[in-house]
Amino acid sequence: MTKRVVLIGHPVAHSLSGAMHQAAFDSAGIDATYELWDRTPMELPEAIGGLRDAAFLGANITIPHKERVVPMVDRSTEDAHATGAVNTITREGKRLIGHNTDVPGFKVALDHLVGKQKMPRQAVVLGAGGGARAVVHGLITEGFQRIVVFNRHLHRAEGLVKHFGRSAAHMELRAMPWHDSIIEAELAKTRVLVNATSIGLTTDEIPIPAEVLHGDLLVLDLIYARTPLLRAAAAAGASVADGELMLLNQGAAAFTLWTGQPAPLELMQETLAAARADGLRSAEGEATGAAADDVASPAGTAD
Ligand code: NDP
Repeated sequence: MTKRVVLIGHPVAHSLSGAMHQAAFDSAGIDATYELWDRTPMELPEAIGGLRDAAFLGANITIPHKERVVPMVDRSTEDAHATGAVNTITREGKRLIGHNTDVPGFKVALDHLVGKQKMPRQAVVLGAGGGARAVVHGLITEGFQRIVVFNRHLHRAEGLVKHFGRSAAHMELRAMPWHDSIIEAELAKTRVLVNATSIGLTTDEIPIPAEVLHGDLLVLDLIYARTPLLRAAAAAGASVADGELMLLNQGAAAFTLWTGQPAPLELMQETLAAARADGLRSAEGEATGAAADDVASPAGTAD
């Protein structure tokens, strides 16, 4: 019987994950299809319930459902529990297990961006959704000592800080109101800036004014595209990277969870690159209308 894996989000049209995972299943000789399910928050419980059927290997969860899905699974792994967000589901009999492969995916992307330099200890994170939770958990476990989270709706950033409570007790994790002057003051004493908002995903917008960016910054945008933020940061002399490595590595970890096999990483990367060149969009991060040339590779990195 052909097995099924689904990406559940809203929207999910033309996701890059579909091409990446289908190529991986096919090359590994796994008889499985990767389907895109656009489901509103109202439709989510029924969609998750459907995954208990024996036909399903599991699922990916994307915007805006990663936090909402946590109480709908039967067990959460350590990363999913720590972040309070699930991006991958596996099935054990009729039980659903929630995982968070965004965490290892983010760490690979951060390590690559920092390169041979000493890992910084201070970061500014824009956004407080499911992606931001993986980022904050990744930064805490990397040994960051001060993380400031800015979000449009401050209460959501405060909820994030509260969620991490004990695991952040040894360091400073703060939520701050989204004001350009406060962001500028924080960035002046920070090396790492992560954009975990979806600003720049479907429109050509920049989350913060270009003037607050400086050349000492390492800027990671989770969006898989050369966003206006990355362009402005590179122009200011900063080192920048987009969400490609995170997308690739969270996908590779999910593939292994579903199949028990190592992921064909090179093939998955090639498929992502080809899909991007074809102008496909991704719920995990490619901006609408971004020309292929414009998003070809993370600027500021060697490859
Ligand atoms: P969520 O829907 O959970 O969170 C969205 C975040 O973006 C919130 O902080 C929200 O703020 C903010 N936001 C959205 N629109 C606006 C706006 N117009 N102005 C200000 N803030 C806004 O999504 P995720 O956390 O799952 O994903 C966030 C981004 O990260 C997406 O672009 C996603 O594609 C990317 N991502 C990429 C991954 C990768 O592998 N490369 C992995 C995970 C995420 P508020 O709470 O105030 O609404």
